[in-house]
Amino acid sequence: MHYFVPKRCTESNKIMYHDKATAQQAADQSWRERGTELWVYRCDFCGTWHLTHRDPQSSYMHVPLNQQLKPHSRKKGYKPRRR
Ligand SMILES: [Zn+2]
Repeated sequence: MHYFVPKRCTESNKIMYHDKATAQQAADQSWRERGTELWVYRCDFCGTWHLTHRDPQSSYMHVPLNQQLKPHSRKKGYKPRRR
């Protein structure tokens, strides 16, 4: 029996995803199965996609640990449209 062993990035030791959609699927699966929210980002070293626990968008800001915002709803494209 062979198990699928994903390739890992030599720089970050993260699993390499060759396209964003696949990485996003893995992130969604992690969210559903473990409640772990992951972000997808493109690696500058290997050029593939990785998952990260930290929001790469907010990592630019220096937020004190005790003031870190909890991620809001993952629902995107909420439309406040009423009939
Ligand atoms: Zn990489």
